[in-house]
Amino acid sequence: MDFSYTDEQELLVDSIKEFCERFFTEAKIRDMYEKESMSDELIQEYLEAGFGLMGIPEELGGIPCDMQTLGLLTEEFAHYSGVITPLLNNTLAMRDLIDFGSEEQVAEAMEAYCETGKPTFSLGFSEPAAGSDNMNMSCVTKKQADGTYLLNGQKTWVTQGAAFPNILVVSKDEDPSRENKGMSMWLVPLETKGLTTAPLHKIGQQIMPFCEVYFDDVVLTEDMRVGEEGQGFYNLMKNFETERCLIVAQAIGVAQAAMDDAAAYVSERMTFGKPLANYQLIQLKLVEMETAIQNSRNMLYKTLWKMDNGESVRIDSALLKRYACQEATKVASEAMQIYGGLGFTTETRLGRLWADLRGFQIAGGTDEIMVYIAGRQLAKQYARK
Ligand SMILES: Cc1cc2nc3c(=O)[nH]c(=O)nc-3n(C[C@H](O)[C@H](O)[C@H](O)COP(=O)(O)OP(=O)(O)OC[C@H]3O[C@@H](n4cnc5c(N)ncnc54)[C@H](O)[C@@H]3O)c2cc1C
Repeated sequence: MDFSYTDEQELLVDSIKEFCERFFTEAKIRDMYEKESMSDELIQEYLEAGFGLMGIPEELGGIPCDMQTLGLLTEEFAHYSGVITPLLNNTLAMRDLIDFGSEEQVAEAMEAYCETGKPTFSLGFSEPAAGSDNMNMSCVTKKQADGTYLLNGQKTWVTQGAAFPNILVVSKDEDPSRENKGMSMWLVPLETKGLTTAPLHKIGQQIMPFCEVYFDDVVLTEDMRVGEEGQGFYNLMKNFETERCLIVAQAIGVAQAAMDDAAAYVSERMTFGKPLANYQLIQLKLVEMETAIQNSRNMLYKTLWKMDNGESVRIDSALLKRYACQEATKVASEAMQIYGGLGFTTETRLGRLWADLRGFQIAGGTDEIMVYIAGRQLAKQYARK
């Protein structure tokens, strides 16, 4: 086992730190949260720095790297910026397209990204009556006599749905009923006639707002389908494992930012004539926070190593997502506790870190659904022969 970074990884971390120190000052972050967006200038700088091309094959103009390095990029970006940003979404979106899309779709998406720096698509998967229970979705496409398709229905909680140029929509083929398991993925430009969005307001992660999306007789053509007809759901499920690992990488980074603040504060804040660091109850908090971060990090990079080596991470990614996201929220909560009254004000960033992290216990599959995924598999794995 080798836990050290390569020279390239060390350089990467240094450049992330430098980038974040320049563009993610507390004042700039507050402005982004208030405006619920990032400036075009920052998006362009990120593009030029090349981070958004990492993990994409060289022949497409990307900078190939393994999953462990992608995890490191994601974690350290969240750590040094102290925010969860939509900037990293391009890599995930491109991976979906490369795996399932046509050559033309991939080429067009890369070209558009390199021009604008905006990730290719947001993901329209959840519906008001179908979040965890995906099979209950009722968005449907129906084929018309002229060979086009009409899309009708509603998606919700679509992160960056009103900001990215396309929405990757998963919808049922022909029949919206629960029994129909045939679903396809469609890349639908935001500007398509019949597509409208309505904002929803998050309690955290406001830098990347989500929205409702309505489809009213939206006309789709065959070349907008991503992957094979009827396979949309299964395709997307496969790539959720990668998404979950990168959610965890962000969660660990933000938890580390909370730890940095709280662990430094204990030497500065005096109570009863002594620094907080002297009290064992406070030391216990630091010990538990550090243990949780280190455990999560070890689980993450082992899971990514398995992915790099072609091993299944079905159980690992679900165990990891539930454990690490819960622990990260707890770390931020304990960091607030260490700051006392100040921790509950907007004078520190801790409330923001906590609220941002809390969303990860729901996004990308809830804690409970992770139990559902891993629990059944564990029972099978340990069953006596
Ligand atoms: C920050 C954030 C970003 C998101 N971004 C997107 C996005 O970009 N695109 C998108 O499509 N969606 C997105 N979502 C939606 C997200 O995927 C869903 O909210 C999530 O899958 C849960 O679905 P639900 O809200 O319908 O909850 P429900 O499925 O109604 O669940 C409610 C509660 O019951 C629990 N529960 C449900 N079924 C079971 C069961 N069988 N056993 C035990 N407990 C159960 C759940 O875990 C949850 O605690 C986002 C959500 C958040 C919070």
